Amino acid sequence: MSDSSALSDLSSLTRPELERWFARQGEKPFRGRQVFRWLHARNAASFEEMTDLSRALRARLPELAWLSAPAILEERQAGDGTRKYRFGLRDGLQVEGVYMPEERRRTLCVSTQVGCAQGCRFCATGTMGLTRSLSAGEIAGQLEAVSRRLAAEGLARPVTNVVFMGMGEPLANLEAVAAAVDILLDDFGPKLSRRHVTVSTVGLVPQMEEFVHRVPAKLAVSLNASSDEVRDSIMPVNRRYPLAELMRCCRNLPEQHARVTFEYVLLGGVNDSLADARALVALLAGFPCKINLIPYNPCPGLPYERPEERRVVEFGDLLAERQLSVFVRKSRGVELGAACGQLLTQARRGTPGGCAPRSPRPDEPPSPG
Ligand code: SF4
Repeated sequence: MSDSSALSDLSSLTRPELERWFARQGEKPFRGRQVFRWLHARNAASFEEMTDLSRALRARLPELAWLSAPAILEERQAGDGTRKYRFGLRDGLQVEGVYMPEERRRTLCVSTQVGCAQGCRFCATGTMGLTRSLSAGEIAGQLEAVSRRLAAEGLARPVTNVVFMGMGEPLANLEAVAAAVDILLDDFGPKLSRRHVTVSTVGLVPQMEEFVHRVPAKLAVSLNASSDEVRDSIMPVNRRYPLAELMRCCRNLPEQHARVTFEYVLLGGVNDSLADARALVALLAGFPCKINLIPYNPCPGLPYERPEERRVVEFGDLLAERQLSVFVRKSRGVELGAACGQLLTQARRGTPGGCAPRSPRPDEPPSPG
């Protein structure tokens, strides 16, 4: 393998960047478009596959550039069709992704970092710490690897929606996430609708303000508490950006982001009481938003429990009675340990999985936890 640090990672370039890169090599800019289409629409994994490039150019490209897209190392499939993937990166590190097929959409949850620095107490990935952020090519490449795998099984357009809710905090890797979104929406690439790409954040306020002005994807905020006291105890980020500051940011988002989706993981005995629900109603009063309630599935080694079913129903009913738009997620791929970080932490600990992403209701945009 060449020393990739001296070469250009073509997988991470947006189409205009790729056209300019080819122009700098003395090639026609449309070569950039061709290569972009090979990488992101036809899901090519090597320059050799790009058969409408000249043989000479295909031979020259590996001397100038490399491709950072990940490879699938492991795939597990659950009875409900959910598939969990373990991806290998070129430097030997690994991340995870989860594929959730449903009647009207097929959603892929992608990772944006190896590990995570946010340290949410209920999250398996949060126990790993941050190793490094992914490049745009490594993020978009998770879609390409899965699409290639599923297309080989005869599925046309196997992924319709992408959510950035896997390992890592996407807004802590904003440059690469912005480029990856550009790639996913490009007419010469996967051509996803901007309404079908959702980026989740724990609430990094300055990055949220930057995101909404430069990234044409939807934003979801992982809220998980209605008081600073509880949020401080489960999400260290709240000490930097307390609820008042986070909500002020959400209320001032530009029009196209005005209807925020809030994710609320219900942790048994921690944030799932009716008092918590009432406080949530007060926090969101008069604010156009959607709330996704996500009953927690216990993760081995983490001190949190699944809420009682009765609590989930009562919590959701109270929000609905107060005219809030609320959806309760159903679990997906529980037997896979399908939540972010579970496959890798299982591999380390030799433990079975617990947490799982939830599938959206048929009338809701996807947004697994
Ligand atoms: S929930 Fe998301 S932001 Fe929090 S530690 Fe896990 S991966 Fe990081």
